[in-house]
This record gives sequence, C-alpha cells and structure tokens, in this order.
Amino acid sequence: MAVTTASRLTLARRPRRLRRTEAIRSLVRETHLRPDCFVYPLFVCEGRGVRREVPSMPGVFQLSVDEAVREAVAAREDGVLGVLLFGLPGAKDATGSTAADPEGPVQSAVREMRRAVPDLVIITDVCLCEYTSHGHCGILDGEEIVNDVTVAHLVPVALSHAVAGADFVAPSDMMDGRVAAIRQALDERGFERVGIMSYAAKYCSAFYGPFRDAADSAPQFGDRRSHQMDPANVDEALREVETDLAEGADIVIVKPALTYLDVIARVKQRFNQPTAAYFVSGEYAMLKAAGANGWIDEPRAMMETLTAIRRAGADIIITYYAREAARRLR
Ligand SMILES: [Zn+2]
Repeated sequence: MAVTTASRLTLARRPRRLRRTEAIRSLVRETHLRPDCFVYPLFVCEGRGVRREVPSMPGVFQLSVDEAVREAVAAREDGVLGVLLFGLPGAKDATGSTAADPEGPVQSAVREMRRAVPDLVIITDVCLCEYTSHGHCGILDGEEIVNDVTVAHLVPVALSHAVAGADFVAPSDMMDGRVAAIRQALDERGFERVGIMSYAAKYCSAFYGPFRDAADSAPQFGDRRSHQMDPANVDEALREVETDLAEGADIVIVKPALTYLDVIARVKQRFNQPTAAYFVSGEYAMLKAAGANGWIDEPRAMMETLTAIRRAGADIIITYYAREAARRLR
C-alpha cells in the first residue's frame, strides 16, 4: 500500500525506532545474560567412569567423581564459573550418616575439582534427603522431622565440605536456625572464608519431580510441606530471607525460578543482596520435552527463560542449561 500524506501520523513517540535493527536493540537492551551468572548443578555418584543419563532430564547425568571433574573442566572452558554439587552415596541409613563422610562422592569431587580447576567456584548442597533411607531431609521422630536434631546432623556435613575445599556450602533443608549453626561451626574451625549460599525461599514444588530421579531422593512416605514453603506465600519468603541473612547467609536462593519470578523481584528489591534463582529440574524438563516434540524452539525458549529470571532480579542462575547457554553467549 502506498504511503500517502493522509496515512502519516504525527507522533511524539515512536517506540519501534528502538527496535529497528539488531544493533539498535543491543544498544538499548536492559538485561544481559553472561556465562558468569550461571551455576551448573552436578550429581556425583560412586564408582569410576560412570555417566548415567537421568531419564526425565535429557542432557543431565549422574557422574562418578572422575566424570564430574571432566564435566567441571568442560564447563569452566565454556565460561561457567560455578558448580553446585549433589551427592549420591553408596549406602543410606535413617540419619543419613554417610553425608559427612570425608571420602564421600561430594567431598572427593570437591578435592579433585579444586586441583583440576583452581579458580572454579565450588558450591555444595547440604541436606540429608539424598543420604537417608526414608528420603526425608532430616532426622525423624515417627513421621515428623525434628528440627534441632536435624540441624545438629547438618553441621558436620557442611564442615566436611569446607574441609574438602568448598567455597560455599548451600543448605537446602529449610530447617530453622541451620544457617546460624553452620556459620558458627565454620568460624570456630577457622573456615571464616567459606560462605553460605542458603536456600532461603524454597517452595514445596511439583517442579522438583525429575530431580528426585536424578538424586534418588524421593520421600518414602508423606511430603515436604512441613519445611518447604507454601507456593501461595511471598511475605513468608521475605521473612525467611531476612532470617537467613541475619544468621549469616552470604547469598540467598529462591527456588524454583520460573513460577516465582515475583518472589525473586521482591527479594532483590527489598534486601539488595546477592540473589540466586534455581531454574529447577521440572522447569528444565518442560522445555526439553516441548523442544523434543517440536512444539517450541528450545534454544530460544531457554535464552528467553534465563533472561526473564535475570530481569526479575537474579544475580546468579543455577541451571542445567549452564553450559549450553554459556556457549551461546560466547
Ligand atoms: Zn532435602
């Protein structure tokens, strides 16, 4: 259609001018993803040469220590600065006693990664659910998790990770008072340089399903509603974050990410502290499944999702896509 004088509008603002070329769009872009905002979760198991794909999480593997170290080296080469380690022990019991084993998969992986990639930021998950025979995050009295006894069991786990050389321990159990107890124990043992990245606002989410395949940590009975947060609450998340910061957390985590963007935004705005968001297994699995079916363009959906999490206010994104996204950003 010909442009006539009659069809021209007189506009003070034409926002489309800023979207005309990729160069202009880049110039005015507000949110930037960088490889160094990603933390890459790894599941470390016993054995050697083990690389077992998790069926519900294509591209994610249970890795023996040697394979986990290779994966960490490759991630670092892709530009990823940090890893978050979860352990898959050979044996489980009612109190998760192997979680503090200095020769456990996580402790061994920390030592070997520290040697192989000296500048890697090594973060370790601290919880009991991968180590307990019942799959719960704490010590049980009947079917109830006993808070303070559980904290007493978590402290030696965190210490064993610090001894191995972790930069941060990441308590994910959601017990009351665990950040303070871990901070005190670290300081008493001379580990004041070891930080705490706390799962401060961890919701009781259906999106953790595939992780439980990966970490073999599904509870044998009941659920996690007595310690993880109600998805309906945000004031409570702010109180949890405030408490963890007061107890000595250096970085706070909101988990999951995609369905809790408002929580990430509120936490970042209110506290202005380093804030991480965990883009969890179920969120990853959704994109993977839709991508595999040809229903969405997975790489685009991945970058859009990661950008949205960053835009909401996350400084750090914990994601299974870390390597793939980092490679796209180089
Ligand atoms: Zn747990």
